[in-house]
Amino acid sequence: MREAPLARCAAAAQNTRGRRFSETPPRGRSEYQRDRDRIIHSTAFRRLEYKTQVFVNHEGDLFRTRLTHSLEVAQLGRSIARNLNLEEDLTEAIALAHDLGHTPFGHSGQDALNECMKPHGGFEHNLQSLRVVDLLEQRYAAFDGLNLTFETREGILKHCSLRNARELGDVGERFLKRQRPSLEAQIANLADEIAYNNHDVDDGLRSGLIELEQLAEITIFKRHKEQVVTAFPSITGRRLIHETIRRMIDTLVTDLIESSAAKIREHEPQTVEDVRAAPPLIAFSSGIRDEQLELKRFLHDNLYRHYKVARMASKGRRVVADLFEAFQAEPILLPPEFQARAGENKARAIADYVAGMTDRYAILEHRRLFAIDPNAD
Ligand code: MG
Repeated sequence: MREAPLARCAAAAQNTRGRRFSETPPRGRSEYQRDRDRIIHSTAFRRLEYKTQVFVNHEGDLFRTRLTHSLEVAQLGRSIARNLNLEEDLTEAIALAHDLGHTPFGHSGQDALNECMKPHGGFEHNLQSLRVVDLLEQRYAAFDGLNLTFETREGILKHCSLRNARELGDVGERFLKRQRPSLEAQIANLADEIAYNNHDVDDGLRSGLIELEQLAEITIFKRHKEQVVTAFPSITGRRLIHETIRRMIDTLVTDLIESSAAKIREHEPQTVEDVRAAPPLIAFSSGIRDEQLELKRFLHDNLYRHYKVARMASKGRRVVADLFEAFQAEPILLPPEFQARAGENKARAIADYVAGMTDRYAILEHRRLFAIDPNAD
């Protein structure tokens, strides 16, 4: 694609607000490329491979995990940012980091941990992603965390309560002022939505939990499927599904680029500060937004609430709650590094430990703590 100068409203790397601990500037790469590289080399990033997106990791080899989901978000985000002459590398860094704080077992794990943490300030995976990059990764001599730029950290923190915002300092400010983050962060957020809506259709069909016939009633799916069948009348099976989904993704990405470009032209932000004060400028057209909502509702009712998914979720919730309660009752069961931290804030140290677990590690740890079978480890 064409190489154009960055838009004036882009969060250009040379204008970064910088890092919490000052460092010598990177050589041969930009500040955001350095952020991206640090994220890819982190332990939390590698763990994404074994964390649930919708299907528990061991259900099948072909389903998305948090890792492949994050890669898809990064790929979509880069394309969109490039077409709008915005900072691709910043969008990529945010996309790769956006789910680092996810618990094992997807949203059910997060709900269970939040429930356990209610008396101790709650648990929110988005806030936890920031905690991972600010504190929990321990690899650098001079600081805890990855010491990422303000802009990447701001993008990771998609939402947060006003109470938490007050404690977060610089990245919390925009919630108190009711402002938006950079356009690059707004892109990563919507790329996330495009990625999961489409890959959940794909995984849902692959798993057999939803059927093509059900999707025939969903406007956006029906429209693109008809295009495929018109062009290739004898197409069936996986090829039909893939050709339909790739057209849906193309429509969504193209619509997002065009309608965001129109909004940016209309508001003419000259700087990132103008972007922060403006209404959201990265947005779908209203017709496409409605179609996306219809698809989202379909997935909610038919896939996320499918009894087989609900069973996995319920099991995941129980594992997380059991682990939390066991450690809370007997902190001596925690590994030494977390025991040391439990001295400061026991519940938070336990939440950090449990949230960091992959699905299979959580299951193994549960077996270690609860199995009474003498042959169990
Ligand atoms: Mg995501």
